[in-house]
Amino acid sequence: MPAPTEPIDTETTVPAAMTLPKPLAADGKSSLIGLDVDGLATVIAAVQPASATQVALRARQLFHWLYHRGATDFGAMTTLPKGLRDALALDFSAARPTVTTEQRAADGTRKWLLRFADGQEVETVFIPEEDRGALCVSTQVGCTLSCSFCHTGTMPLVRNLGTAEITAQILVARDALAEWPTAKEGRLFTNIVVMGMGEPLFNYDNTAAALRLAMDETGLALSRRRITLSTSGVVPRIEQCGRELAVGLAISLHAVRDDLRDELVPLNKKWNIATLLDACSRYPTRRPITFEYVMLAGINDSDAEARELVRLLDGIPAKVNLIPFNPWPGAPYACSSNNRIRAFAAIVEAAGYASPVRTPRGRDILAACGQLKTASERQRRQRVAA
Ligand code: SAH
Ligand code: SF4
Repeated sequence: MPAPTEPIDTETTVPAAMTLPKPLAADGKSSLIGLDVDGLATVIAAVQPASATQVALRARQLFHWLYHRGATDFGAMTTLPKGLRDALALDFSAARPTVTTEQRAADGTRKWLLRFADGQEVETVFIPEEDRGALCVSTQVGCTLSCSFCHTGTMPLVRNLGTAEITAQILVARDALAEWPTAKEGRLFTNIVVMGMGEPLFNYDNTAAALRLAMDETGLALSRRRITLSTSGVVPRIEQCGRELAVGLAISLHAVRDDLRDELVPLNKKWNIATLLDACSRYPTRRPITFEYVMLAGINDSDAEARELVRLLDGIPAKVNLIPFNPWPGAPYACSSNNRIRAFAAIVEAAGYASPVRTPRGRDILAACGQLKTASERQRRQRVAA
């Protein structure tokens, strides 16, 4: 270790030719989180040049420490030579972003607010069920799409999350649930739903890289059958997502007529219902596509709309997920009554589609669908309003 009086010049410790990954955590060091085996090999070759075979071996070992064991301290990575561990520790980090707050709802749902190196924040939610548990991952700070019923869409600050920032959400949940090293059986955290803040297909590359890491058998080992990505309908990327990732697909449909969908999900003005359903009919997965339909009293919840929904889905292997509207302060809608939701579901089910009503989870900590908006953002706005 150098003496504290000798600050480390990162320009000289790592060869200039290498572009350093960005810091993720408050330590300001370049983060290894989010790098795949090839990315780790590039880092290793830069900090301690060796033969290609040696570098590849070390990269696989480092990958194992990061994503199978969840190690954050290079000192603990005992299969790596001490010299390499020390060299890595000079400039690189596997530290997590700061967990600013953790909340636990009465129903066991957990929500973490994560702060990244630049001070921006996102929320990640873990939803435990009897025989599985899903982590709801965010892909953007805020969302550019401003769907009229969604709290996230009202956040003024928006940026894409990097691969590291998306991957870190998975690592933080594994840390909190104490599920390192990755076990094949019996773990609480079994599924990922990309349904947090942001539109994942507007941040496709980073989301795809993080999901590839999540699916890697030698690391986080979450199967693609247990990953579902939700989109409001970025049609060109739906096809790419099917071809490259083949994860489960969920579509935020919410309306059966273009005039109403234009209002609820403004992206519909770019890719309308017919174009969207055409892309869905070509999506290559054996799993049915989930169509999400938020139940808004008097807006989209009539029997006629249920019948039209069934007509539209004809020929697409589909399941309809009815989401009771989750309120947020100042929201311009109310949730449909239980009777109305049941009547709507009955029509969809009679046509042969599974039509579960999603139980709202974690409403008391504003962790349910469409309620995410970071606490600091809420406080900021409250201060402005005061
Ligand atoms: N941006 C993506 C993924 C995140 S939203 C998308 O829109 O699909 C996850 C789901 O929650 C979407 O189906 C979204 O339409 C729904 N949702 C948003 N606000 C909601 C609210 N207030 N109540 C219930 N569901 C909501
Ligand atoms: Fe964005 Fe999805 Fe919310 Fe629409 S529903 S504003 S796409 S996060």
